[in-house]
Formats: sequence, C-alpha cells, structure tokens
Amino acid sequence: MKGYAMLKIGESGWIEKEVPKCGPMDAICKPLAVAICTSDVHTLWEGAVGERHNLILGHECCAEITEVGSLVKDFKVGDRVLVPAITPDWNSLAAQAGYSMHSGGMLGGWKFSNFKDGVFSEFFHVNDADGNLALLPANIDVVNACMLSDMVPTGFHGVELADVQFGDSVLVVGIGPVGLMSVAAASMRGASRILAVGTRPNCIAAAKKYGADEFISYKNGTIEDQVLALTNGQGVDKIILAGGGNETFESAVKCLKPGGKIGNVNYLGSGDYVQIPRAEWGVGMGHKMINGGLMPGGRLRMEKLGSLVSSGRLDVSPLTTHVFDGWDHLEEALFLMRDKPADLIKPVVKLAD
Ligand code: NDP
Ligand code: ZN
Repeated sequence: MKGYAMLKIGESGWIEKEVPKCGPMDAICKPLAVAICTSDVHTLWEGAVGERHNLILGHECCAEITEVGSLVKDFKVGDRVLVPAITPDWNSLAAQAGYSMHSGGMLGGWKFSNFKDGVFSEFFHVNDADGNLALLPANIDVVNACMLSDMVPTGFHGVELADVQFGDSVLVVGIGPVGLMSVAAASMRGASRILAVGTRPNCIAAAKKYGADEFISYKNGTIEDQVLALTNGQGVDKIILAGGGNETFESAVKCLKPGGKIGNVNYLGSGDYVQIPRAEWGVGMGHKMINGGLMPGGRLRMEKLGSLVSSGRLDVSPLTTHVFDGWDHLEEALFLMRDKPADLIKPVVKLAD
C-alpha cells in the first residue's frame, strides 16, 4: 500500500509499506477523507516529538472498515466510522485511573503518526476497535466527519480542562480550528463573555458565529494588557490556550483572576521551559490552576460529540476552508497547513463520498 510519510525531520514523501495486520481486537480501515493538522506540521517540520523515520503521517480522518479481528463485537466490514486521533488501550491501568490518553506512558494514547503509522495511507490499523471507533452518523458528510477526529474533541477538552461554568468570563487564546471549537464549547457551557485572541479575518468571522464577543490581536501589544484593559483590571475567570507559543502561559497567569483555571490544549512545539510569573501567580498562593491535556478518545466520547453534530447543535462546516479531491493533493494540503495562508482554517482531502 501507499502511505505519505515523514522520512525524517523536515522531509516527507510517498512510500510503500505492507498492509497492517489485524489482531483479534483490531480493525483495518481505509480513509474516506483525511484532514491535515497543525500537529502534523509540528511533528514533521519542528521535530516536536523527536526524529521519526518512514512513519506514515496523519491522525484525522473518517473511514470504512475493511477487516475486523475475531473478537470485535460491534463493528463489521463495510461500516463507516469516526476515527479519533487518540486511540488508547482501554484495558490499561492508566485508562482505569481515568487518563486513557496516557495509556502506555505519557501521551501513549496518541499512536497515529507518533508511535505507529498514521492515516495518510490506503489502509491503517486501529487497536481495540470496539473501544475506539464509533459509527459515522448517516447525516454527517465525510468532510465534516474529519473535524470529529481531533478539532472538536480537543477544542472541547480545553473547555473541560478550564472548567468553564455558567456565567464565566472566558479568554480563548488562538482561534484556529482548535480554538474555534473551544469558543463553541465555552458558549455551550454558558460563558457570559468570550474574549478571543487571533488575527485571521475568516477565523474572527467564524469565532463570532461560535459566540466570541471581543477580539484581541497578539500583534498589538501583550495579551494581558489588552485583557486587563477590557475587564477593568479584573481579568477573566477561565482561559483556554489553543495557540501561540510558550509565552502564552505567562500572559494567561497575568490576566486570570485568583481561583481561575487555565486549560491548555496547545501543542508546545519548541523550547525547554514554560515560565510562570511569580508575583502574578500569587507568589505561589493565587489558586490559579494550570491544567494541560491531550484530548480523550474513545467510542463513548466520539458518539457523544458526533451526536452534537448530527443533531445540528454544532455546525463544524465553517472549519473546513479548503477541500481537495484525491490522494494526489495530499502533499499540497499538508504544505498549505504549514504555510497557513490568511484564508485557511483547515484543509481536507476527500477520497470517497
Ligand atoms: P492554528 O495555527 O490554526 O491557530 C493558532 C491560533 O493561535 C491562531 O488563531 C493564531 O492567530 C494564534 N496565535 C499565533 N501566534 C500567537 C501568539 N503569539 N499569541 C497568541 N495567539 C497566537 O492552530 P490549530 O487551531 O490547528 O491548533 C492549535 C494548537 O493545538 C496547535 O499547537 C496544535 O498542534 C494543538 N493541538 C493539540 C491537540 C491536543 O490534543 N492537545 C490536538 C490537536 C491540536 P492568527 O489568527 O494570527 O493566525
Ligand atoms: Zn490533529
């Protein structure tokens, strides 16, 4: 089979590999559509998770099952499925402790394009098919279904990590596709005011639709100065970090109220340390919580998030700005994600209807 791989840091291309083998609890799938993620860019060009050789990239897709293992109960060949970016081992102790995403070690639930071949391939392997896959609702098209792999679960998880409650004032730093889903989730959770950081005009337009009230440009001074100016020096109750660099933590601590919470879902691609400002962190006693996490996967989660889209409560269509037809355009879509032209939110490559 053909797969589009990271050959080494900074180099990628099509390679040939054996079709993966299906264990008793596994499934083999072929993608119906794949989406490119900013994380693919961090991995390939920044080497953010280290060197990888001939590792097939990609972790966002929806797919059709082509083979199931003998112990798989709830899926069969031909089923169309939502595929989460994170596919934990559900019988692990980490999963039993409530942190399935870290099964097999820190971030171990993130297998595709990290520890094993990803989904930019004619066929790919899914461990624990019953635990990880979910049926694709018939009224969600394949392009929108790709947003359920990572963008929806990650953006929503940021809001869970920040513990957004009714009436909270919320700051969302970064309104790429992940941050846009954080804006949508904060709105659903009852935020009374949502400030958002980002400059791309179509991201701002989408953020308005999802419920953002005011916008801050990180190019016009510090985030904290602008947030404090907009909040009479009070700051906000909750902050979701979904963009920017390591310095956003410093800004966030500076404009968070005591007792506030920061939920980080940003993938910090470089640097060795994150700095926390001592005084604004209440000299260590400010009750300002910083909570960073990888999105949870799992079938129940995917079914629930899928039902938000199939019921019409969450419209993910504004996220996809560029749709390509066929594998021949995969590289173009990947390079587009790296270069991030102003009109781009998310590129998707469609392989079937
Ligand atoms: P994008 O690059 O599309 O969006 C980034 C956003 O951050 C944009 O709104 C951008 O503004 C803004 N930004 C850029 N520089 C700064 C800055 N210095 N200060 C504040 N904001 C800034 O990213 P995605 O939405 O695709 O992904 C966001 C992050 O989430 C990535 O790091 C990605 O790897 C990570 N991620 C994490 C996952 C997890 O499970 N935890 C899963 C998936 C992704 P502008 O409008 O100017 O471009
Ligand atoms: Zn992703």
